[in-house]
Amino acid sequence: MKQIIKYGGEVYKLLGYQGCFPDKTYKPSHFCIAEKVTDGYLIYHTMTREMLLMTDEEYQHLYLENWFGDCHNFRYLVRHWYLVEDSADETAMCETVKHILRNADRGNGLDKISHYTILTTTNCNARCPYCYEYGRRKRSMTAKVAMDVADYISRTAMPSISLSWFGGEPLVNHEVITIICQRLAMKKIPFTSTMVSNGYLFDQVDMNTMLNVWKLKTVQITLDGTEEMYNATKDYVYPDANGYQRVMENIGRLLAAGINASIRLNLSKDNVDEMKTLVDVIDGRFGGKGWKFGIYPHPLFEGYGDPPLEFTDEERDYVYERYIQLQDYLLEKGLTKQYNLTRTKYTNCMADNHKSVVIMPEGKMSICEHHTDDEFIGSIYDKIDMDVVNSWLERRRISDCKDCVLLPQCNKLKKCIAEKCTEHTRKYAEHLIRRAMCYEYERSVVRQ
Ligand code: SF4
Ligand code: SF4
Repeated sequence: MKQIIKYGGEVYKLLGYQGCFPDKTYKPSHFCIAEKVTDGYLIYHTMTREMLLMTDEEYQHLYLENWFGDCHNFRYLVRHWYLVEDSADETAMCETVKHILRNADRGNGLDKISHYTILTTTNCNARCPYCYEYGRRKRSMTAKVAMDVADYISRTAMPSISLSWFGGEPLVNHEVITIICQRLAMKKIPFTSTMVSNGYLFDQVDMNTMLNVWKLKTVQITLDGTEEMYNATKDYVYPDANGYQRVMENIGRLLAAGINASIRLNLSKDNVDEMKTLVDVIDGRFGGKGWKFGIYPHPLFEGYGDPPLEFTDEERDYVYERYIQLQDYLLEKGLTKQYNLTRTKYTNCMADNHKSVVIMPEGKMSICEHHTDDEFIGSIYDKIDMDVVNSWLERRRISDCKDCVLLPQCNKLKKCIAEKCTEHTRKYAEHLIRRAMCYEYERSVVRQ
């Protein structure tokens, strides 16, 4: 038996090591994932984040059948929570650990903020049919509100802050970005920024402004397929627009200037088959130059858009099967990151970390970027309503959570309208973990 990943410090500080008693009976923890490899089985514990390699015999006899109740290895498995007492309520134990660590992880009730997502506008130039903002009110930030946003940030900012430009399409109203950034610089507030954009208008902004005034470090740009599919999906407001070519050129321009790109591939039943080709095109065009970019695929959100997107069961099976294959392809090509097995994060996102706010074009605020018309927590002009903020803390709990191997690493929020939990999403998440287990194991073999 061999330890491949030793971790778990914070969990052990709370739970300690489990006592091993001859009169007790033990069973495998339901937080363990076993993966067959050449030398035996890898066992990864999703709560302690430790991983072991066992021989086939150890796996069968020690782990599954718990034969050798008094041997050193058996005690190790018990002490490190791979085996738990028959009567153990692991779900309750895990929820308690997460609750304590989450409170330590969270910010200080929005007294000080480290991340501001700013919607320069809710207008967009691309009119994607699947947009979750379809039907929402359209409005753009004025220069006066932009000045007020900068003043609000200077009153509430932590010493180090990041800004994220969001929309709609943030570049449709990029003038206010410059106003906010210049005012923050004048007030000596250090910041960097990122942007979520369709990428079409980057050639309309001076690169020097983006680098030195906006301090733009990373952009997230979505692609919907190869050229024909992309242009058929987007409905740019400009006549005769070849959006695909223009966006690809803009990505190249940004990368060459040292701005990183995170390219999101929106997967639908119509485009999923050609995404591997698109990955090759992107890699061929931008790879091998030392430019920093990554690619991550994601199925489109169901229930949004015009008409609201729905997959049939067969379509969903198909899209998720291809999603897994695409993720594996990206990992093989080094274009996406492995799942981080030792990552300890007990908050879900901006909505529950109490360090982030979302500022709308008129100055109202929410804490979830998917809520631009409702769920306001206040505005830059008045106090934050902590009752609304705290209403986001409740976790999503469904009957499947009780026996879910992902529970220790799952922080999904009850109010979140984007992150679903289905058989498909769980299968995908577990697949990423299994891939990362094999990756860590292979690295450990190379290190020997
Ligand atoms: S992945 Fe789904 S079933 Fe598992 S713990 Fe999270 S919400 Fe519950
Ligand atoms: S949509 Fe869900 S995951 Fe995204 S910020 Fe809102 S609550 Fe968080």
